[in-house]
Amino acid sequence: MLDFDRGHIWHPYTSMRGPLPVYPVRSASGCRLVLEDGRTLVDGMASWWTAIHGYNHPELNRAAADQVNRMAHVMFGGITHEPAVALCRRLVDLSPPGLERVFLCDSGSVSVEVAIKMAIQYWFAAGRTGKQRLLTVRNGYHGDTFGAMSVCDPVNGMHHMFADTLTQQFFVPAPACRFADPWDASDLDEMAAMLSAHHEEIAAVILEPVVQGAGGMRFYSPEYLAGVRHLCDTHGVLLICDEIATGFGRTGKLFACEHAGITPDIMCVGKALTGGYMTLAATLATAAVAEGISAADPGVFMHGPTFMGNPLACAVATASIDLLLSGNWQARVAAIEAQMKHGLAPCREIPGVVDVRVLGAIGVVELVQPVEMAAAQQRFVEMGVWVRPFGRLIYIMPPYIITAEELATVTSAMVAVAGEEAGKERSTG
Ligand code: PMP
Repeated sequence: MLDFDRGHIWHPYTSMRGPLPVYPVRSASGCRLVLEDGRTLVDGMASWWTAIHGYNHPELNRAAADQVNRMAHVMFGGITHEPAVALCRRLVDLSPPGLERVFLCDSGSVSVEVAIKMAIQYWFAAGRTGKQRLLTVRNGYHGDTFGAMSVCDPVNGMHHMFADTLTQQFFVPAPACRFADPWDASDLDEMAAMLSAHHEEIAAVILEPVVQGAGGMRFYSPEYLAGVRHLCDTHGVLLICDEIATGFGRTGKLFACEHAGITPDIMCVGKALTGGYMTLAATLATAAVAEGISAADPGVFMHGPTFMGNPLACAVATASIDLLLSGNWQARVAAIEAQMKHGLAPCREIPGVVDVRVLGAIGVVELVQPVEMAAAQQRFVEMGVWVRPFGRLIYIMPPYIITAEELATVTSAMVAVAGEEAGKERSTG
């Protein structure tokens, strides 16, 4: 199996010449991954922010099985169905007030494409055809498709070789004021100046609210987000919030926008939407945006993927949201946050660690030098945990169901690997 995999199958962001090792997983349940060789690993990653209820959850399994026995898929053109309606009802109810219209799509990246198209088409319909570009901050990450890539950090966004092909967007520095820092309004100066100079060309500002994920796991002040909302209103520019990583409780609020008390004009959700069961995302818009798009020629929104509103994914997503809301997720996330603060604190003493930060159920240890991925991954597996470092970051976002004991295993392993990796840095100078 591993030979074929190595010879024929691409994994995320890997070489086909010298791929890093992959670990065969046989099954997963609760907060554990079971390897083919029988070893079990405590999961610190929630499969990249998705598996908030853990794996193999009986209620989500039941929702999937019930739906698959009724209808796995049917086209969404000219047809509707209860699973899509039930899910969209919940999304409208739960999302920040004012987001009332829902476009269901395939993945996070596609939901960002849809959001960008909505913003441009909104202004087009209003006769403002010059508003075609986006403004964003450095260190952002919004996905791997072309529109999404154009608003990722141009240097560390993993896509710099496509720079000549991508739409050139406007960038300002990443917010400098950290989540709990006293607010310094000058942090918004460059954003304000850029909007003032280019608002005639800018359709929307796009941001990951409060947490910049794959572009550096940075947590910034909600005041910044509130300030951007205000600047967008002043300059007649839409605000798109990408809640794909942060949505469904990860930062301690159901949506990270709530830290700032704002409603964006357009919001993307994905990842944890289906509790990690399958791919599904959604782009939500205000009535003003949705009706503006339809107000003028061509009158329709120009997007409609084949698997739009997939009933199976919608049924599981609805079950996942109901499970989240019927449980005590706030208390769980708060307990994970408190324990990670305590459990990761020893990393602060390690020379070679520049920062340790925790927000909600996200814990980050930032090193001076990049982690040696294959070696670090192997050490984590030896210690019975699944943590996948990235660049200079060793970070976790575990399932909310992780027990205190499991989380202690994960944070101890992080402290150990951070020490080992930092030690390598010292010996190599
Ligand atoms: N936006 C953000 C904030 C993300 O973290 C990601 C995925 N890492 C995406 C968009 C893209 O989502 P997907 O991988 O489902 O296309």
